[in-house]
Amino acid sequence: MKMVEVKNVSYSFDENTSVIGDVSFDVEKDEFVSLIGPSGCGKSTLLRIIAGLIKPSGGKVLYMGKKVEGTNNGMSFVFQDFALLPWLTNLENVKLGCSGLILSEKEAEKKSSVLLDNLGLTGFENSYPNVLSGGMKQRVGIARALVSNPRVLLMDEPFSSLDELTAETLRSDILYHLKNKNLPVNAVVMVTHNVEEAIELSDKVVILSKKPSKVSAVRTISLKRPRNKRGKDFLSMMDFVYATLAK
Ligand code: ADP
Ligand code: MG
Repeated sequence: MKMVEVKNVSYSFDENTSVIGDVSFDVEKDEFVSLIGPSGCGKSTLLRIIAGLIKPSGGKVLYMGKKVEGTNNGMSFVFQDFALLPWLTNLENVKLGCSGLILSEKEAEKKSSVLLDNLGLTGFENSYPNVLSGGMKQRVGIARALVSNPRVLLMDEPFSSLDELTAETLRSDILYHLKNKNLPVNAVVMVTHNVEEAIELSDKVVILSKKPSKVSAVRTISLKRPRNKRGKDFLSMMDFVYATLAK
């Protein structure tokens, strides 16, 4: 079953700046898809189009067969820079993710608190984002995205503002939680410019060209998990992605 279909999407900010040329790909159920491409090729713009935050100039996006028009549609977004509101507590930040749901204040609070617990932030409910490290802030960002029970999780370079050790821990925690049957997430689309990260996490990598971007290649990655980053197949996949990006 197709969770998301990106069909001939193009995007221009104005008539002189075409950012996304013509991009099509599918996201199947239970698939973790990475979008990888050079800086400025329109990855963030494309992810926002998928989320319904921006309207494409051409083409369309389908979510479970239905055209995406606006947000609150079963997909949620994790931002590169966390996008937490500093004047709200961590719990209140997560609760913001409930705004599209019909929940009482109490239920929203309970749900948000459970997610903070699951993501290792027990005891930080009533403190503010400024006391948290980068990795912890992103955990709040991820909790806020998950609290609405999304079926598709969209993540824009979620680990790129973290140091490598923090990123590594968070990546494996996220994979663990995504496999947790209590979460209804059926698919993930992650933007990254980190080739190793893309191959470590993904079932499929969509490689974009420089702007106006097109799909240069799509590769399915069937290496078994946890993946050995020094293994022959892993390294040859890395070579392929680098070579495609360099074209
Ligand atoms: P990526 O995430 O791949 O780095 P973005 O989607 O952020 O790329 O941006 C794609 C391109 O669009 C960049 O070259 C950027 O300079 C340009 N861009 C982004 N926002 C605007 C805007 N508001 N007006 C015009 N150009 C923009
Ligand atoms: Mg970007």
